[in-house]
Amino acid sequence: MDTDFQTQWDLARYFYTGLDDPRLRADIDSIVPRFREFVSRFSGRIRNADADTLAEYYDASGALHDQLQSVELYLFYRSSLDTQDTEVAKLMGEVEALNIEAEKLWLPLEQEWKELWSDTLKALAQSPLLAPHKNAIEQKANNLRYLLDESAERVATFKSRALSVPETLREELAGSFVFDMQMDGEMRTMTEDEVRTLRMHHDRDVRKRAYESLRRVYNTRQNQITLSRTYTQIVKDWVSDVELRGYAGVMSARNVREELDDTTVDMLLQETVEHANLYQRYFELKRKHLGLDTLYDYDATASIASSKRTFDFSEAIQLHLDTVRDFDKEFHAHSVRMLKEGRIDVFPSHGKRGGAFACYTKNSPEFVLLNYTGDLRDVATISHELGHAVHGYLSQIQSHTGFHSPLSLAETASVFCETLLSERLIRTLDDEWIRELMDARLQDIMATIFRQIQYITFEKRVHESIASGMELTYRELNALWREEQIRFTGASVTYSTLAEEESGWSMIPHIFSTPFYCYAYAFGNILVFALLDRYRREGASFIPEYKSILASGGSKRPKELLMEHGFDIGSPEFYRSAFRSIGAMLDEYEALIPDASRSWR
Ligand SMILES: [Zn+2]
Repeated sequence: MDTDFQTQWDLARYFYTGLDDPRLRADIDSIVPRFREFVSRFSGRIRNADADTLAEYYDASGALHDQLQSVELYLFYRSSLDTQDTEVAKLMGEVEALNIEAEKLWLPLEQEWKELWSDTLKALAQSPLLAPHKNAIEQKANNLRYLLDESAERVATFKSRALSVPETLREELAGSFVFDMQMDGEMRTMTEDEVRTLRMHHDRDVRKRAYESLRRVYNTRQNQITLSRTYTQIVKDWVSDVELRGYAGVMSARNVREELDDTTVDMLLQETVEHANLYQRYFELKRKHLGLDTLYDYDATASIASSKRTFDFSEAIQLHLDTVRDFDKEFHAHSVRMLKEGRIDVFPSHGKRGGAFACYTKNSPEFVLLNYTGDLRDVATISHELGHAVHGYLSQIQSHTGFHSPLSLAETASVFCETLLSERLIRTLDDEWIRELMDARLQDIMATIFRQIQYITFEKRVHESIASGMELTYRELNALWREEQIRFTGASVTYSTLAEEESGWSMIPHIFSTPFYCYAYAFGNILVFALLDRYRREGASFIPEYKSILASGGSKRPKELLMEHGFDIGSPEFYRSAFRSIGAMLDEYEALIPDASRSWR
């Protein structure tokens, strides 16, 4: 590894020298005064704004964002490095309280935005002066279409305080759960995350016990009643909002926020359901890889990993650098800069936040956090997160409002880079390793596409039933969940519990906190297949197009942006080409079955 590569964040270089840096104190103290100044400058001017005023507003709010983000980012990064640091936690609490105060100051301005009608905003969005903010303004206008009159909105705002209770209740209830599980001959108490991870264990008994442990807690009558009441309450609120505000269907409110039209999202669902045979084929092949006669639900999540080989970080990072160097020199240069400038924190340490992430915002350098231990997934994670980082870097040409892409585009660089790396890695490995890597990749793809869409088809049925006036008990929710499971897995998975005990839905936080959100993950993955397919066919000449998609950030609606580059997300063919690629991966996976009887199709 290059000797000037750093494996720890150099936060002092970008932010403050430490918690006692006087600049940090000064910036914290300036939060509320800066907001106050901003609000008084624009108060009364938004409701009748013309293009000049809005341009001035966006410039000023961008500047305000830049002034305030150092504090937020610095404390967030410090707490990520040591979640136990009480000094950092104290400052974060202080900043949070100041932000709440600032938000209160901001409310009247928000109200003024609502007074600017949708049509007025749509017209303003066409002004050349506002070109850098066009999509943000149009998006605001789209949301305003669903606004009620002022007194109704006021009631809704008041009511929403009470309605946030069910979601918090689910979080707090699930947070209080403890799980007992027999491990290595003794009973241990574990967190939900620990038990969930054990569902991937290579030992079947461990997996089975992990499932049972989760169900023992989630399936008590009290918890089932509480969780089903909580969930149906959230759904009732959602569907009454849909009706009051005049959305076209139960999913439309989400689609408007995700900047996708209903017909596109419907097509995504329909095409995925129609290709569920691929999901089933994966499980059938997995059963053979595992050498089982029957694949039970607790086998479906099994990892086939058995070897213990690990990669040194220097080896892994070299692999990543070789991969991006062969792809594009700007990608390569960016990763090298991240390493040299101390913007990747590589190894686990006591108190450090788990998992991995990339953080990027307008006018601030990208940072990546890893917890590198050297297994195959960790190697892929390096490329995944550095992919996110280069996406953020390329989007810097956009304005503040056009910087962040919607979720459906947010994984465009990460999964793409990760796939390039995996493909390179496969060329260097022997069969046993290729099998593990393929299995890990397919498992991710299946979970990201088919399982997420299964959540959505379940949600859709529940929301539509409740919208039509039905009441659903937990037994009915369980039965619906099982029906949707079977719709996707067919006969390829055998369920170890009765349908009425299938409480899987109650373990998915997203369906409580952000209804219908999960389809964006599936869409993002399918998009990456389409991009890779073009890259394979067109080679280097596609790279500038690809980079231009990334550099667009969130400045255009996904459909428009992708159409400009030849991807028609309104056409079934877009989805079918992705499913063809997945089919081809399954062929490769099948060829790796030891002594395979390869007759199944
Ligand atoms: Zn990601």
